[in-house]
Amino acid sequence: MRAEPQAADYRPETAIDALAEWLGARVAPADFPKTQIRFRNDRWAKPVGLAHLSDEEWAAHFGRFEPLPDNLPEPLALKYHGHQFRAYNPDIGDGRGFLAAQLRGSDGRLLDLGTKGSGQTPYSRNGDGRLTLKGAIREILATEMLEALGANTSKTFSVIETGEQLWRDDEPSPARSAVMVRLSHSHIRIGTFQRLLAMEETEHMEALITYCLTHFPGPQPPEDAPGRDEAAAILMHQVVERMADLAASYMVAGFVHGVLNTDNMNITGESFDYGPWRWLPKWDPSFTAAYFDHGGLYAFGRQPEALHWNCGQLAVALRLVTDADPLIAALNRYGELYMAAVARRWCWRLGVEPRGVESDTQLVAACEKAMREGKISPDAFFFANRGGGNAVGDLADALKNYAPADSSHAYWSGDAPQSMLIEEVEAIWAAIDEGDDWGPLHSKIEALREMGSAHGERPEPTGHQTANPIE
Ligand code: AMP
Ligand code: MG
Repeated sequence: MRAEPQAADYRPETAIDALAEWLGARVAPADFPKTQIRFRNDRWAKPVGLAHLSDEEWAAHFGRFEPLPDNLPEPLALKYHGHQFRAYNPDIGDGRGFLAAQLRGSDGRLLDLGTKGSGQTPYSRNGDGRLTLKGAIREILATEMLEALGANTSKTFSVIETGEQLWRDDEPSPARSAVMVRLSHSHIRIGTFQRLLAMEETEHMEALITYCLTHFPGPQPPEDAPGRDEAAAILMHQVVERMADLAASYMVAGFVHGVLNTDNMNITGESFDYGPWRWLPKWDPSFTAAYFDHGGLYAFGRQPEALHWNCGQLAVALRLVTDADPLIAALNRYGELYMAAVARRWCWRLGVEPRGVESDTQLVAACEKAMREGKISPDAFFFANRGGGNAVGDLADALKNYAPADSSHAYWSGDAPQSMLIEEVEAIWAAIDEGDDWGPLHSKIEALREMGSAHGERPEPTGHQTANPIE
């Protein structure tokens, strides 16, 4: 069973203050015609001490963005650049979002409340700064599903319908509008560092590295890593470790993010910013989520390579403040870390005790073959083979020395697994769109949380739970 987030007091801490002058711009939220709460994530409001808010208070803070007590007096839209589909774009930044608040969680780690759809900013270009309600619903579904599958993801904290009409090329328009709040450890992106390189802001980059290492600490580099005492190298190792684990979590979840641009890469390795994502209907490395990804750059099977490439861009940026060798040494660890993370996460989802990377990697290959040949989805595969006992043929051979993990949860003896295929996503949306029926969404969230509970504790890599000391 998974431990539920523990209730804690509200503990504001605006650590970003020290960087705010050059990291972003103070902005005002949009003035929406209505603020109707559609989703409040009380499960995750508890550990940040906000579950006690009345609905009126919730709408005031997360729909109208009245500041939380002792928190940022004004929202901060963050500046960044990024490679979008490998083309460098200096013209981005929080164009429809901002950092609304910072606070400590029950584990002592610093968290951000960031928005999507909260209005225009200096970085909106021609955009309206808004988010469609369907986009917000899709983000709830993606984050709840990924969390239940053990991935390191931002949490969708709040969705409030805002009563505007939006015009979009990829949705029937006018489309309903919403403002979303997400909870995650930092909103510092690889693109944030890329911007500081482009502007040659050496001192700011040093300050940003210090901020990341202080507030989002991770494991130290290996003993033999060159330059392992330098701040930039330490950060690089941490980001490589987290990205390798993130890539593995996508592959084990059967998830295609769709837009793995460097501005969508949180340095804490938390997956976020869910647009055209899909789950695999069957095991297919070439499966592509975004209709505009014509070359299949971010296809399912190319995600590990995409994240490695993104780490490379962080290394390029960090060259502003350090030598190449320590950065290259960190980058070179990616492949091995990725293999180990896949092995660990695969065994976790399958419900068997790991036996070492070499053996586990062979098991993964046997599972992939079984999925390909059986033309079944990862969800169906893992559910049918939970604990390894039902396997036949080559897969049974690969599993013969594996001990089953705990599968006593009632979820495992149910009729069918939870999945998140596009047909179901569209059906959940259609119920809301056509009949204002929110029942299917809420039942789905409940079922996903039940699945999360059945899977148990998230399979963290060693050392990654490093928390900030609670002062
Ligand atoms: P995304 O694809 O959501 O990661 O967005 C890429 C960039 O486009 C970011 O700088 C966003 O802030 C910006 N953007 C996306 N949609 C809008 C919008 N409706 N209004 C303003 N900016 C937007
Ligand atoms: Mg983005």
